[in-house]
Amino acid sequence: MREYRERTVQEVAACTCDRCGRRMTPVDDQLEWYEKMSPDWRGGFCPVFQDGTHVSLDLCQQCVRDTLGPWLRVDSPSAPDGSIQTLKGAVPRPDALVSVEQMNPWDFHERD
Ligand SMILES: [Zn+2]
Repeated sequence: MREYRERTVQEVAACTCDRCGRRMTPVDDQLEWYEKMSPDWRGGFCPVFQDGTHVSLDLCQQCVRDTLGPWLRVDSPSAPDGSIQTLKGAVPRPDALVSVEQMNPWDFHERD
């Protein structure tokens, strides 16, 4: 028999773009929420930042394009059959669980 205890878990409920100030939430603006970029890392022996420095940034998709655009490698989605099936794994479905097989059906069929 298992016994359970209450536990408080925190999750990111909103994110503000550090460049333009756009506030994004998974409820109010899902398209922006799932396309934001939030790099977050701790540097090693880094001459650019101080050693061991924690570096983080939140950018909306427009600011990612506007600031990093010339250096981004952007490939069009492609699937084996040329359809838009590739995007299925990226579509948020908060009300239903999506299995790995459902996200990448061609990967599993090829291994059979
Ligand atoms: Zn922005």
